[in-house]
Amino acid sequence: MESEEVSLPLIHEHPMIPWNDLRKGDCCGRLEAISDGYYCKRCDFFVHRECSESSEFIKHPSHSVHSLQLRSNSHNNYCNLCRKDITHLCYRCDICDFEVDLYCV
Ligand SMILES: [Zn+2]
Ligand SMILES: [Zn+2]
Ligand SMILES: [Zn+2]
Ligand SMILES: [Zn+2]
Repeated sequence: MESEEVSLPLIHEHPMIPWNDLRKGDCCGRLEAISDGYYCKRCDFFVHRECSESSEFIKHPSHSVHSLQLRSNSHNNYCNLCRKDITHLCYRCDICDFEVDLYCV
């Protein structure tokens, strides 16, 4: 099983295993199973493949001055656009302390 582990440093600190059980993603908090994905047994953390393939940097129209970087949310912030709590992953601008969740990108 060890050999199947994949490292997704942007998403999660532990190696993850490919997982095709369709379930809610801890990445974006979307209830619908949108794709298969990767799972960390230690943390019971599941990320959709679709979300795990998000690019590290994006430009977003709501914040066109700087690019936003993909981060795991470490300080329980909310999305600057929809005001919902960020489940786990977000895009962040450190310069402006601006964050959007994966719903809004
Ligand atoms: Zn997701
Ligand atoms: Zn973990
Ligand atoms: Zn949002
Ligand atoms: Zn900014």
